[in-house]
Amino acid sequence: VDDAVKHFPLPRQGLRRREHVHSLDGINLRVDSGEVFGLVGESGSGKSTLARVILGLTPTTSGQVSIDGLGPRAPRKQLARTAQLIFQDPHAAMDPRMTLGASLTAVLAQHRIGNKEERAQAVSDALAEVGLDDSYLHRYPGECSGGQLQRVVIARALLLRPKLLICDEPTSALDASVQARILNLLRRLQGEHGLAMIVISHDLRVVRYLGDRVAVMYLGQIVEIADRDEIYERSCHPYTLALLAAGAATTTGKQPPATVTGEPPSPIHPPSGCRFHPRCPLAAPECRSAAPELREIAPGHQVRCHRWETARTTLASEESPNR
Ligand code: SF4
Ligand code: MG
Repeated sequence: VDDAVKHFPLPRQGLRRREHVHSLDGINLRVDSGEVFGLVGESGSGKSTLARVILGLTPTTSGQVSIDGLGPRAPRKQLARTAQLIFQDPHAAMDPRMTLGASLTAVLAQHRIGNKEERAQAVSDALAEVGLDDSYLHRYPGECSGGQLQRVVIARALLLRPKLLICDEPTSALDASVQARILNLLRRLQGEHGLAMIVISHDLRVVRYLGDRVAVMYLGQIVEIADRDEIYERSCHPYTLALLAAGAATTTGKQPPATVTGEPPSPIHPPSGCRFHPRCPLAAPECRSAAPELREIAPGHQVRCHRWETARTTLASEESPNR
């Protein structure tokens, strides 16, 4: 992803200039084959838009995106065989009128893969890979739990042997007891297939469990990016630190920091200078006027903050006691 920008136009209001939702503003990202990349941020930070842009489902306003050499204008079928998306609600992902077997077979038929027997075998194997037996072939989506159906969705995504799997909040619609099993499944399949995977979540624990590298997004921009352990142990962006503290607060039952409670500012009129300044405990006058660049502070660790050194020394100890 090279300098991707996505602004959605809003309907014009009278004579006023047309306004835009700034969903993505200058995203640069490279995910290697076999790498698991975590993308974290609040809802509205642009994570799902980025997923859609990567898959060519939403055109960029400017900038370049390619997967394994394929641009967004490559034939849909070719893109589908290169990258697949798994999203939050498995019930919405499956046709309620088709048996699971028919849904999965249809994918192979669309792509003209195999003959009838080979398709049946491939579908049965795919279900077995996600821990479901052949009795599921004849079930309808309405006869499955969310966890079972998310397994089917994963099996369907892998039928085409993609190189990249994007998982957008893969477990947030599921019961807590099922979440861990689905995450384990994704991790196992990622390893077995050598998949590149982008895992999108508002939940830092999900990304910590799955990601090799992690990017934190805020209002359409990446504010921090680093290897997983670096993010969880040595992060120095005030927003990342607040997210970590909020995560720790949920597990210990304490109050999350005020920084990340309440609504984020509007992506229609992003704040001047650093977009995080209205909520940042360290905001200084320069933060309101000058937009910080994403810059490298250690090998592979980039931060978008004028005061990252101060954040590391003051906020790291005070806001995330559990690190
Ligand atoms: Fe906070 Fe300023 Fe850093 Fe933005 S640049 S995160 S306002 S300290
Ligand atoms: Mg989303």
